[in-house]
Amino acid sequence: MSDFIKQFIRDIPDFPKKGILFKDITTAIKNPDCFKAIIDELYNLFKDKKVDKIAAIESRGYIFGAPLAYKLGCGLVLMRKPGKLPAQTISESYDLEYGQAQLEIHTDAITKGENTLIIDDLLATGGTAEAACKLVKRLEGNIVATAFLIELADLNGSKKIKKYAPVISLLKY
Ligand code: AMP
Repeated sequence: MSDFIKQFIRDIPDFPKKGILFKDITTAIKNPDCFKAIIDELYNLFKDKKVDKIAAIESRGYIFGAPLAYKLGCGLVLMRKPGKLPAQTISESYDLEYGQAQLEIHTDAITKGENTLIIDDLLATGGTAEAACKLVKRLEGNIVATAFLIELADLNGSKKIKKYAPVISLLKY
């Protein structure tokens, strides 16, 4: 199945800046068979894990988090860039190649002990996903796994986040 999905991922060299090989998922989600295969595969991995909440990372994490939450029959909560969430939030900073970024979550998004699956489209250095893990931990959620469509294995992101929970990626490059 991963070979089927892989053929729909488009590589864009030097985007958004020189030296980055951008993994474009728009070509995967515009194909109905491929989009279905991705969601079905994620569903099969997590259907028996008693997931209470999916915590999806802005913005491409939402694309996979929302249909998966619907299918699993669990709640969907949003992790967003600063200043976007309207109610009380907590926030985590993380390092980017140049400078810093932040991720926020509503303080009432997850309650103590809830089984939470963190999801994003792609794992690169793991900075974003680690911030997501820290937010869920601060709300005392139980992280079931971190899940990605794509993992760029050479960047060792999974090393950074495997201490929080198992790291699951459908496609490795
Ligand atoms: P990182 O924090 O380094 O693991 O970066 C992960 C975040 O940046 C994810 O939300 C991805 O959507 C995005 N990202 C990083 N590198 C790439 C890449 N080569 N292609 C597409 N998206 C990327």
